[in-house]
Amino acid sequence: MSVFQQGGIALLTFVLMEVWAWWVHKYLLHGPLWFLHRTHHEPQKGWWEWNDLVSLLYGALSTGLVIYGAQGQSWHLGVGIGIALYGLFYFFFHDIIIHRRIKIRYKFTHPYVLRLIRAHKMHHKHMQRDNSEAFGFLYATRRYNIKRVD
Ligand SMILES: [Zn+2]
Ligand SMILES: [Zn+2]
Repeated sequence: MSVFQQGGIALLTFVLMEVWAWWVHKYLLHGPLWFLHRTHHEPQKGWWEWNDLVSLLYGALSTGLVIYGAQGQSWHLGVGIGIALYGLFYFFFHDIIIHRRIKIRYKFTHPYVLRLIRAHKMHHKHMQRDNSEAFGFLYATRRYNIKRVD
């Protein structure tokens, strides 16, 4: 497969990962997998939370796909790269910009970043499993714009 085909697959995987992550977050993490995800909604006791296990699983999956796909130049490579890229963006926006797990001084002012932060803060309004909103990580609808017109 050519570099362009692999790049296209990676890009498509990246976009689909947001849809997939939204679905998993809404129906599994706030459902049967709440016992893992609750550690992310309750006050933190340390740097590690059991919810991080989900990220580690995606890391292992993408690493496996990249290694396997690189050998035969198959589509698995593009999918693995797409998942890895999504993981990087997720870590940057969700863990660093929103939850500040790594302290950075930079204040973001871009309206879309502010919208994302606001949407996720709304998601964290509840510490229980049910009645949460805004399950996306890299996409938030316009209703979370800072200047909200209801
Ligand atoms: Zn949640
Ligand atoms: Zn969060």
